[in-house]
Amino acid sequence: MKIAVFSTKTYDQEYFERYKTNTDTEFVYFETALNHHTANLTSGFEGVCVFVNDKVDEDTIQVLAQNGIKLIALRCAGFNNVDIKAAKERQIKVVRVPAYSPEAVAEHAVALILTLNRKTHKAYNRIREGNFSLNRLIGFNLHGKTVGVIGTGKIGATFCNIMKGFGCKVMAYDKYESDELKSSGIEYKALEEVFKEADIISLHCPLTPETKHIINTRSLSLMKDGIMIINTSRGALINTADIIEGLSSRKVGYLGIDVYEQEETIFYKDLSESIIPDDLILRLISFPNVLITSHQAYFTKEAMEQITKTTLTNIEDFKEGKHLKNEIL
Ligand code: NAD
Repeated sequence: MKIAVFSTKTYDQEYFERYKTNTDTEFVYFETALNHHTANLTSGFEGVCVFVNDKVDEDTIQVLAQNGIKLIALRCAGFNNVDIKAAKERQIKVVRVPAYSPEAVAEHAVALILTLNRKTHKAYNRIREGNFSLNRLIGFNLHGKTVGVIGTGKIGATFCNIMKGFGCKVMAYDKYESDELKSSGIEYKALEEVFKEADIISLHCPLTPETKHIINTRSLSLMKDGIMIINTSRGALINTADIIEGLSSRKVGYLGIDVYEQEETIFYKDLSESIIPDDLILRLISFPNVLITSHQAYFTKEAMEQITKTTLTNIEDFKEGKHLKNEIL
């Protein structure tokens, strides 16, 4: 079986080559993303393996089907970038990695909070330039602050428990409440109440039509002045133009994002010698209280190992005609 692996970096190849066991399965690595322009590269393959910024929409799937692709294997949990209905209509199976090291993402969300708050990134640069002053480096104690968590699945629940360890009051909103979290002292509230009461809001729900732009001018207007917003989930949970307005008016005191609404053309690329093709991200970068990372929350050794092993098992299960336990139905 031949699999075209899209959006690969050297580290993806290293992990695939380290953990692959079946020598009958051939992986061909493409650095380019999969989209309707690149879909013709899949001629002669039976499956594709894709990541968060591959655009597997209906146009792409049509070409995949024409080329005889039978399997789309996602190397991630979120599947908002794949038109599942279009794949189903063409009898293409879609599998994913539903769970891998929720600690990786939850801990990165905490890293964003601590960095924005205690400004260690600024202190690092200052001290390298011989500036040992503390002016403007003042932070706040996390202990006693109220943290609002939107989405308490695997990552959100892990994040709740870490923040409890800091001595925060943790409140949450989810369509499905977790009894386990409730019994450990997490308080579920209506979404608007979480927006009103939190000092820090962290997003851990998937991107769906319902959650798209959940952070917008209206929801921002409910929040405390100086709110800290953290997004390690999916970029389009935040309306970028609205958050820029919120930062300009100082409603938003801190913004930490690992994901960005238009990240496909920017993230995972070295654009240091290029003209960055996105004015909104340039505006975001210009704020002193915004911290952006390039969709790296998942990027730990443990998570990479789990993603690779599960993806390889998904592909082997398909090849052997076994039940696909990680199929998106
Ligand atoms: P999960 O499925 O375990 O949890 C998602 C939770 O969101 C569920 O409890 C669900 O009930 C809840 N939810 C669904 N719709 C909601 C709504 N309208 N309002 C509030 N809550 C809602 O998923 P997970 O593994 O915890 O991952 C969460 C998200 O993190 C993923 O969807 C993905 O987008 C993102 N993610 C990002 C990275 C990264 O590297 N930045 C890595 C992995 C996952």
